[in-house]
Amino acid sequence: AAVTRFAPSPTGFVHIGGIYTAMIAQDVALRSGGRFFVRVEDTDKAREVADSAVQFARAFEYFGVHPDESDPDGAYGPYLQSSRERIYHSYVRQLLREGKAFLCFATTEQLAAITEEQRALKAQPGYYGRWAPWRDASQAEVEQQLAAGAPFVVRFRAPEFTGARSSFTDLIRGRIDQDDNRNNFVLLKRSDSSPWLPTYHLAHVVDDHLMRVSPVIRGEEWMSSVPVHHQLFDALGFDRIPYAHIAPLLKQEGSSKRKLSKRKDPEASVDFYIEAGYPRDAVLYYLRGLVNGRLAELPIADALAAPIRLDEAGVTGALVDTAKLDNIAKDVIGDLTADEVLDAVSGWATAFDRELAEVIAADREYARRVFDVERSGSENVRKDLARWSDARAAYGFLFPALFTPVTDPADERLGKIEPATAVAVARDFVESYRDDADRDVWFAQIRELAVRHGYAPGPAELKAEPERYKGPLRIVANVVRVLLTGASRSPDLWEVARVLGADEVRRRASALGA
Ligand code: ATP
Ligand code: GLU
Repeated sequence: AAVTRFAPSPTGFVHIGGIYTAMIAQDVALRSGGRFFVRVEDTDKAREVADSAVQFARAFEYFGVHPDESDPDGAYGPYLQSSRERIYHSYVRQLLREGKAFLCFATTEQLAAITEEQRALKAQPGYYGRWAPWRDASQAEVEQQLAAGAPFVVRFRAPEFTGARSSFTDLIRGRIDQDDNRNNFVLLKRSDSSPWLPTYHLAHVVDDHLMRVSPVIRGEEWMSSVPVHHQLFDALGFDRIPYAHIAPLLKQEGSSKRKLSKRKDPEASVDFYIEAGYPRDAVLYYLRGLVNGRLAELPIADALAAPIRLDEAGVTGALVDTAKLDNIAKDVIGDLTADEVLDAVSGWATAFDRELAEVIAADREYARRVFDVERSGSENVRKDLARWSDARAAYGFLFPALFTPVTDPADERLGKIEPATAVAVARDFVESYRDDADRDVWFAQIRELAVRHGYAPGPAELKAEPERYKGPLRIVANVVRVLLTGASRSPDLWEVARVLGADEVRRRASALGA
């Protein structure tokens, strides 16, 4: 059984790539009957943002990330790295005792000079070879610095560099060959504002070992650190852990692709999806299809139920295309019942559109009928919602409180019709309006209305006697539509009128020229 984890840094930004990785890790654990947990990597106090935990909780909730374990009572916790200081320290002490780590008193200026020199010589950057004086410092030198209270870090004593290659088998990418590590990298550091804290390298190796993780599923940017991590596993006497490095999500930019970036792309943030109100299943289905292309071929419910396979995950990175997500979301929403749409929209609106939320709450039964327009009983199920934030534009006009009746007879939306004729059409419509008309009677009435005002009942009539008519029927139908809905395009007008009810239909139509 797999034990996997998601290990976010609390930097105040939840990357959709993080949720993507978490979703994969969770799925791999779940399918194998294993465990999935979240570990908070708060060892970089300078980058930490206070309300990160709240943001992650919100993202987890929205995207269905459900850790099996977390603090305070996880089996191998604590899962907050800053609470694990003493654990890291004990391993660092072990390494120091065994001569596998050393104290380094190099100052910031000295390190900058090393970097400079290496750059000038085009040498590999790092603390190694002749640029690693503290690696072989005498006990006396070290004690003298300590006595003087000089600041230091603890570095790993990298094994003697032989130039041999370091290789491993990645669960996604297969065999990987890389240069071995020669850098005497930092294990433990301290800053003015924080206690002694481990670097990512040390914390990863110690925690993933102690927490029984296997495999480690993480972003591809860590793949080049595998030689470092292997040296550290070996030095600590731990078994190496298998890795699966997830290719990054990409963004199309002109003719090339680059990493989806939090600084450039709004859709890199989970807030983009949450605030727009994309349905969870649409996002999950889309993300699953990006990991395993095969899943994108399956119907949504099947793809959500099918396992994610690491050995089928892409190695080049998948392109995030919100237009594709929109189409998926429209299908997902198209399959929902009015009640499900109502619940989702009111949940979304409670957070992001107070006015809409209040209007819905004022009469939920009415709202249910609104969201049922062209849904259950109709052949052409509406496919105009991709996000809950589209609901106001698509359905808002059906709520009297959100609708402004058309009063100006010269309003452009009324189309090519004399203002006086439009007013007369509206009056006649109000007078002849029958609440109980079925769909056929309703359209027959509109036809009569058109003919009465000099418009052709159909295209054939118009063609046969063009001089007799002012224009086609649809000009009059459009007036009615605009009066009832505020727009020239709307759902089935008969359904709309039934939802609005006779009083509201008359109120809207009577407003013209009043
Ligand atoms: P940027 O490149 O915009 O600066 P970043 O990579 O610096 O973004 P970080 O805050 O460093 O963003 O990363 C946070 C987490 O998000 C990391 O775990 C990283 O793996 C993940 N991540 C960042 N970009 C992507 C991406 N394009 N695809 C998948 N995961 C990503
Ligand atoms: N905190 C690291 C990150 O956010 C975790 C990487 C890992 O999963 O090991 O990139």
